[in-house]
Amino acid sequence: ASAVNKAPASGGARRVLLFPLPFQGHINPMLQLAAVLHARGLRVTVFHSAFNAPEPARRPAGYRFVTVGASVPIADLIPTGSHGNFAEALLRINEPPACLVVDSNLRGMQVVAHRLGVPTLVLRTGAAACLLAYMAFPALCDKGVLPPQDHLQLNMQLDGLHPLQQQDMVFSATIPHETMSTLIERIVVSSMCSSGVIINTFSDLEDAELQKIIDGMGVPVYAIGPLHKISLGAQSSLLAQDRTCLDWLDKQEVGSVLFVSFGSLASMDQEELVETAWGLANSRMPFLWVIRPDSVQGSGKIGLPDGFEEEARDRGMVVSWAPQQEVLGHQAIGGFWTHNGWNSTLESISEGVPMICRPHFGDQMINARYVQEVWKIGFRLEGKMDRDNIQRSVKKLFCHDQGGEMRRRANNLKDKATRCIMKGGSSQTGIDLLVNCIMTLPS
Ligand code: UDP
Repeated sequence: ASAVNKAPASGGARRVLLFPLPFQGHINPMLQLAAVLHARGLRVTVFHSAFNAPEPARRPAGYRFVTVGASVPIADLIPTGSHGNFAEALLRINEPPACLVVDSNLRGMQVVAHRLGVPTLVLRTGAAACLLAYMAFPALCDKGVLPPQDHLQLNMQLDGLHPLQQQDMVFSATIPHETMSTLIERIVVSSMCSSGVIINTFSDLEDAELQKIIDGMGVPVYAIGPLHKISLGAQSSLLAQDRTCLDWLDKQEVGSVLFVSFGSLASMDQEELVETAWGLANSRMPFLWVIRPDSVQGSGKIGLPDGFEEEARDRGMVVSWAPQQEVLGHQAIGGFWTHNGWNSTLESISEGVPMICRPHFGDQMINARYVQEVWKIGFRLEGKMDRDNIQRSVKKLFCHDQGGEMRRRANNLKDKATRCIMKGGSSQTGIDLLVNCIMTLPS
């Protein structure tokens, strides 16, 4: 029985609680999901840490926001005291919540909710392929397949996870294997202990992977993406977006511009920045490049090489943060050089934009592998980040037949993404089922 307030809700609508992991790539899909549920008549409360709290000015009207603890609530591994705060916040809710939708990384918060009798749904902000890989991860470790023992094993295929290779499941160069194993195990446990797993993907994209997850999970699975296309207008950017780049794009030829962005966390060293700058300039293709203030490791300032700005002035634009979804949807964009965070990958797929892939860590290698080998809508920039390598890759995407083929396939996928969010499409049906589940959960 729920320890949380059981007084009847005024007006009859049920309240859904949501708790994102406080990073951009997790906040975006959670708030997009909030918008989808709100549009279906549910009331919304968003829990968040003080760290990376949603900007008050950009908070959607009609939601409640509740601060829980100061720091990153990965309290499962780093005790921060957030669990106690969260329990208190849950007990203060003055109407019975239908459920808590929790990021799959926040297993600790899920345990608190269950202890207080609040059912949970889990949001996976990555691809279905990634969850499937995580489900297989413990057994691969037990068998001694992971972590790879030497360099020769890195490009060996993983049984049952085609086309993934061992190197795609080396998730971090800095986090120890044991810590990574614990994080992954908790993601899988939180999913299996929930009343359902919500995945930001669509069935035409990852049908086989979704089917395997359904078979292996034992809980309902809702594929309801691409969420940003269903929840149009959901605002959740932590940084101010420079919209002047949209005016600049208006002046460029259709399909001519390369968009370069590595998400909210990935960074490069000063040498890579210089090589990227000259690679882009030497390709002589128009480009829009996002360089966040913290993009360059170690230094406090961005040191673009002398002569670059003059060289690129007529063809390029650099911004510190872009309205990425609108940029990718702009007709001037012809390619995306990305780190393959799942949101960026899905946003690119939704707009039919082929990709140059440069994954950094986490699930990005898995996403890049699928882009290259399953959907065939991009290719990996292999080897060192030097200017010639970059220039060749840009040329391949824009000027070679191979790039044209990728663009054609990307447009095909865009059509499928568009169909799945139309009335009767698979993701709309998924949302119907999800809302029905939320309305009938016993609280
Ligand atoms: N993003 C943005 N402006 C930018 C770069 C990125 O709004 O200039 C957004 C992007 O649209 C995506 C998110 O930030 O929704 C990044 O998430 P992703 O999963 O791609 O990568 P992460 O930041 O988690 O590595």
